[in-house]
Amino acid sequence: MYHRGEEIMTDGQNADAIRSSGKEKPLDYVNAAFLILTPVIALIGISWYAWHYGVTWLEIANLIGMYLLTGMGVTGGYHRYYAHRSYECGKPLQLFYLIFGAAAVENSVLNWASDHRYHHQYVDREEDPYNILKGGLYAHMGWVFYKDMRAVYQKFKNVPDLLKDPLVRWQDRWYLPLVIGFTFLLPACIGLIEGRPLGGLLWGGFLRVVIVHHMTFFINSLAHLYGSRPYAVDNSARDNWLLGPITFGEGYHNFHHKFQADYRNGIRWYQFDMTKWWLHIMRLLGQVTRLRITPESLIIKAKLEVEMRHVEKKLVAMGASERFWVKVRWRLESGRKRLESAAAQYQQAKTEHRRQKHQWSADMRKQWTGNIVYCRREFVEARRRWRDLMQALNRIPHPSAQGLITLTAVFNVLKTRIL
Ligand SMILES: [Zn+2]
Ligand SMILES: [Zn+2]
Repeated sequence: MYHRGEEIMTDGQNADAIRSSGKEKPLDYVNAAFLILTPVIALIGISWYAWHYGVTWLEIANLIGMYLLTGMGVTGGYHRYYAHRSYECGKPLQLFYLIFGAAAVENSVLNWASDHRYHHQYVDREEDPYNILKGGLYAHMGWVFYKDMRAVYQKFKNVPDLLKDPLVRWQDRWYLPLVIGFTFLLPACIGLIEGRPLGGLLWGGFLRVVIVHHMTFFINSLAHLYGSRPYAVDNSARDNWLLGPITFGEGYHNFHHKFQADYRNGIRWYQFDMTKWWLHIMRLLGQVTRLRITPESLIIKAKLEVEMRHVEKKLVAMGASERFWVKVRWRLESGRKRLESAAAQYQQAKTEHRRQKHQWSADMRKQWTGNIVYCRREFVEARRRWRDLMQALNRIPHPSAQGLITLTAVFNVLKTRIL
């Protein structure tokens, strides 16, 4: 559970945030009307239409198909390609992203990416457009109800690369016709195949827009409120596996805020990240290149820092003696250094092998394979010791019930089992 103000803002910053809340900006009636009316039309319209004319498989397919296309336009295109440049892709894919990203009705990519880059740069601060400290509802959709009063040059100063892109400028200029054509006319035309254009419009147009909107909004609200923070605790972003499947994999938001240039959000194979899998397929088809990836050693380093902070916080809370502190800290530091260095060496050995194996003789390759096996063994051992250390420290019960005897017992565990 996220505690407001915890490790994030100072009192001064908090006061600033409250003073300049979104309420001071004028309302954007067009945005407000669109966000309020689309769910109303979708709900009432579909209930009435289904009651009188039933539901067809084409309408369900229309909803799912348009959801997948526009959702990917936002996550694969607007977010991971345009806002973060986490990979390279050619013009056909860019055009796909720009058309179906527009059909998600979340503004042109120029505006979207600019807001998003400010969000990362100033997360949890006043300049963060969807600052969670202004409340869950504000971060979810409230911020869209207010006009952006900044001058254009001021707003777009963080997207110079996008301003130079003719396709991006084209999408910004023709945003409204693109919305009308691909958000509403396209699903209506699909419905026309079976003589039910209104059914197509309601299912593939209105209902789908509402679902994609809130899918995106959940990342700005829920993924900053609920979940774990394994990679960074200095901001509110959370890893939330429940959000993974419904947000095309964007739910691993703590990792994403820490390593925003990485093309993945869910880095493990079992983490549901549909955008990552989409990019793998696009790479196989030759549409995507240079997928950026964070070195494993940096990921481990970030995790270790967070774990160390948790332990330190616990020891402070239980008022551990200076002598105990020194001993535990020494063990933590040496364990961390050993694991970091083992991870870096293992990774370096693998990279070197991958790069140069074609130039090496059979003997050289054999020798290098032995080196990789040795580095891996050292890494696994260092990781095992670190986990043992964490387990031992996690056995320290809550400070309220403990005294010196418990501290001594824990220290004995450390002494016999660790390092
Ligand atoms: Zn965020
Ligand atoms: Zn991002």
